Amino acid sequence: APVIMWFRRDFRLADNPALAAALKGGGPVICLVIRDARIDALGAAPAFRYEAAVAKFAETLEALGQKLILRSGPSREVLLDLARETGAGAVHWNRLYDGLSREIDEDVKSSLKASGITAESHGGHLLFEPWSVQTGSGGFYRVYSPFWRAVKDLEVAPAIAAPAAIAAPEAFPASEALADWALGAAMNRGAEVLAPHMCVGEEAAAARLDAFIAAKADGYKARRDYPAEPATSGLSENLAYGEIAPHRIWRAGQRAQASGAKGAEHFLKELVWREFAYHLIYHTPHIETESWRPEWASFPWRDDSPQVLAWKQGRTGVPFVDAAMRQLYVSGTMHNRARMIVASYLTKHMGVHWRVGQKWFEECLIDWDPASNAMGWQWVAGSGPDAAPYFRVFNPQTQQEKFDADGAYVRRWLAEASRNPGQEALAFFEAVPRSWGLSPGQPYPAKPVVDLARGRARALEAYEQHKQQQ
Ligand code: FAD
Repeated sequence: APVIMWFRRDFRLADNPALAAALKGGGPVICLVIRDARIDALGAAPAFRYEAAVAKFAETLEALGQKLILRSGPSREVLLDLARETGAGAVHWNRLYDGLSREIDEDVKSSLKASGITAESHGGHLLFEPWSVQTGSGGFYRVYSPFWRAVKDLEVAPAIAAPAAIAAPEAFPASEALADWALGAAMNRGAEVLAPHMCVGEEAAAARLDAFIAAKADGYKARRDYPAEPATSGLSENLAYGEIAPHRIWRAGQRAQASGAKGAEHFLKELVWREFAYHLIYHTPHIETESWRPEWASFPWRDDSPQVLAWKQGRTGVPFVDAAMRQLYVSGTMHNRARMIVASYLTKHMGVHWRVGQKWFEECLIDWDPASNAMGWQWVAGSGPDAAPYFRVFNPQTQQEKFDADGAYVRRWLAEASRNPGQEALAFFEAVPRSWGLSPGQPYPAKPVVDLARGRARALEAYEQHKQQQ
């Protein structure tokens, strides 16, 4: 009987434990992607990028004489129907850990089992399963540093080579067409603006890793905070769709460390921030939707304000913030330091709820990740675990002086900051909706929408007041 391999965010052949398990019996494998509630809930950019990941992976499978079958509907129903139709006796998939994915997983598992079908989920998305890392007293970690110490010397799963062949069923079951799913429909600037910034597929991801390790791992710790420099790996985009396994990155980082690359350990530490984010989303799923620390639930964040639009448009009048917001809009990504700065300006200077920013990132990021995005926003806002304290307010101007002293990053993305703006800076104006009424000739705001000193003072005051009310 055939076996169903349900691909979700694991569009790779190598280091794919669910696929390896599906291949074990040697029988035919049906490769499936389901457009379920989790896919329908994706923001515009992640959905567009997801479509690209599926398209690329379908090509990879075709080259192996296989076919990626596409079906839509609740995962449970799709899987039961397909199993009935094909006589498949088992389904394999790699686990996901955000709230919605877990609901789907549990539903699928119990219904398949009830129908006598083997249902096996595997751990391929993370280095360390969230329940496998425990504190001395058997609980979960709320602070990063001890989490890092707990995992840094653990063995991770051994490498799994990409299969040379995946036996096809006698006849492929019917498949929907990817174009009909129109996953990119909500993304107004996908093909022209975002796509040139994307790096899609398993092969591209592996090449990206190799290039990073060869040229940048050594200087990573020293250079990773300078947003004008291509000093980081860019692998978050590929990790988000599982085009590369964290295990492969971990092994490469460890080898670089062993051969003396100075920045390699720091790179591994960053990869473990991703693990920590998943540890948290698993043990405290409310991190996605509510302030992680209950005392922050009553903090008087504003839910929206006219200033939010200026923030989204990169027209706050604070050049570092605006350059970063333009980078996000045009490229679907943003440098980590810039993410912290724009998030701080929104939640602290503007006093806007972190959820507003979280949501905008979810619409715009091609590396959107439910765990890292939620943790990142709550870290900056001060409401999260092991967060930056609320009273530490990033000053975007001094941050620019420190990390973009010659203004190269700001000029690259902010047309108004350059006498001769380049294509990337101008692309923003071609991409924005007409209703925004923006053009490159428009004068740049003469002063910030929220004055840096006043915004900081207001944030601190709100914080003091809130603390006293607790
Ligand atoms: P590198 O510096 O090369 O790091 C290697 C890998 O380590 C990354 O690919 C990533 O998987 C992991 N990593 C690095 N920094 C972090 C971090 N702070 N938290 C978690 N994992 C990390 N990352 C996402 O992948 N998706 C998101 O939606 C996301 N939203 C964020 C929102 C905010 C407000 C903040 C402050 C951070 C967010 N991050 C998010 C984390 C971080 O900014 C990105 O992972 C990083 O910029 C990706 O670039 P890179 O792949 O070149 O990273």
